[in-house]
Amino acid sequence: MAKKPRIVIIGAGMAGLTAANKLYTSTSSNDLFELVVVEGGDRIGGRINTSEFCGDRIEMGATWIHGIGGSPVHQIAREIHALESDQPWECMDGFSDEPMTIAEGGFELNASIVDPISTLFNNLMDFAQGKLAQDGAGGGGNAFYYNIAAKAASKGCASDSVFGNQSVGAFLRQGLGAYWDSCKDHEELSGYGKRSRKLLEEAIFAMHENTQRTYTSAGDLFNLDFEAEREYRMFPREEITISKGYLSVIEHLASVLPPGVIQLGLKVTTIEWQPENHKSKEIQNGYDSSSRPVKLHFCDGSVMLADHVIITVSLGVLKAGTGQDSGMFNPPLPSFKTEAISRLGYGVVNKLFLQWSPNGNNRNANDKDNYVAVGSSGADLDTMAEPLPKTGSSELDRGVDHPLQILFAGEATHRTHYSTTHGAYFSGLREASRLLQHYHCHGV
Ligand SMILES: Cc1cc2nc3c(=O)[nH]c(=O)nc-3n(C[C@H](O)[C@H](O)[C@H](O)COP(=O)(O)OP(=O)(O)OC[C@H]3O[C@@H](n4cnc5c(N)ncnc54)[C@H](O)[C@@H]3O)c2cc1C
Repeated sequence: MAKKPRIVIIGAGMAGLTAANKLYTSTSSNDLFELVVVEGGDRIGGRINTSEFCGDRIEMGATWIHGIGGSPVHQIAREIHALESDQPWECMDGFSDEPMTIAEGGFELNASIVDPISTLFNNLMDFAQGKLAQDGAGGGGNAFYYNIAAKAASKGCASDSVFGNQSVGAFLRQGLGAYWDSCKDHEELSGYGKRSRKLLEEAIFAMHENTQRTYTSAGDLFNLDFEAEREYRMFPREEITISKGYLSVIEHLASVLPPGVIQLGLKVTTIEWQPENHKSKEIQNGYDSSSRPVKLHFCDGSVMLADHVIITVSLGVLKAGTGQDSGMFNPPLPSFKTEAISRLGYGVVNKLFLQWSPNGNNRNANDKDNYVAVGSSGADLDTMAEPLPKTGSSELDRGVDHPLQILFAGEATHRTHYSTTHGAYFSGLREASRLLQHYHCHGV
């Protein structure tokens, strides 16, 4: 009897479990594949990690559904009634109507100082993301901000980096400069110690820059590519949290899989595969590569053969695994892939939970997400998603004995929704669909 193709998914985060869910639910009736999900950690969820702190449900990782209009994560959360809960949770929906801004020394800043700079910053970011209309169609004096942003963008094009690309950080600072040029006669402020208006405005602007660093995971906005920012897409409408916890979405995706499909504590150390020019070699490295072309080695010394592997590990793991002296792939990945991995940026997003009591406790969650660094581009994210061996033809598997050995999913492989849970979700669907189409599973 012919063997069923074995698909191994590396990583039980959003991307891996979405791919597993799609493959299983699309083919379980005809039992087409052998499916395994291997996870190096001792839990599912990856960068989604709902936990508890001082009796409240908290999110150590992903917190928001970024825009509920069209988000697949929102759709699942709604369907499984995860948006309603009687238990207290880390509710971060919406913003305070009356935020307070306090300067060093305890001075509360008046809204008349904060609001114009906040509006300027938001308009500059809207421009960078291609959302600011030249004709002021959005109202609220957009034409004024559009002109400032356009001036900043044209100045920045003189190149501020070794790569000749403009950064978001440089553009923002050019924008602040252009704003100051446009309102030279601003009255000086009093009542804020020795601080001048310009110093306070600069500090408010820096506060927004710091928030942006968190949104984008870019430690330094001067390293965030300006052109790529325009490609980034957000879903419309509110950004909300999931009252029953983000993990409820993950658990729902995993719930369709039969016991034993997800194997925890199985960290992959090496992936042996067969590039196209190795196709004549049937026996390689001591195993019969003609049967299943990929061989996975795990940290406990065990091995597993596979026909297809969907890798969903983070960009950071890929960077570490493809750097000098690291041998996660044998043979090493082709240079087009390693160059994209090395060019893309990867930054820290850190959450700190504090309890306000004398004997208080605190907790810290820290992980990283992908961003498009100066010197890289959206095309690198597409390159990240390209399966191997590379065929270079429109007909996917022409001329390759074992096509689609290594497929890449995970947030860092999505060109327009990277660094989000829904980007990870879409990437998992994409790679599952690629395999389903390869095996002519219709209607997927
Ligand atoms: C603090 C923080 C806050 C965030 N907030 C939000 C938010 O509010 N909204 C939002 O949309 N996104 C947010 N994100 C981003 C979001 O969490 C991620 O983009 C998404 O969860 C990534 O999913 P993934 O499946 O691509 O990767 P991961 O979740 O990283 O999954 C990869 C899995 O692979 C496993 N793995 C790694 N190496 C190996 C190996 N060698 N062998 C086997 N398994 C391995 C890992 O253990 C992990 O479980 C946040 C991220 C962080 C860190």
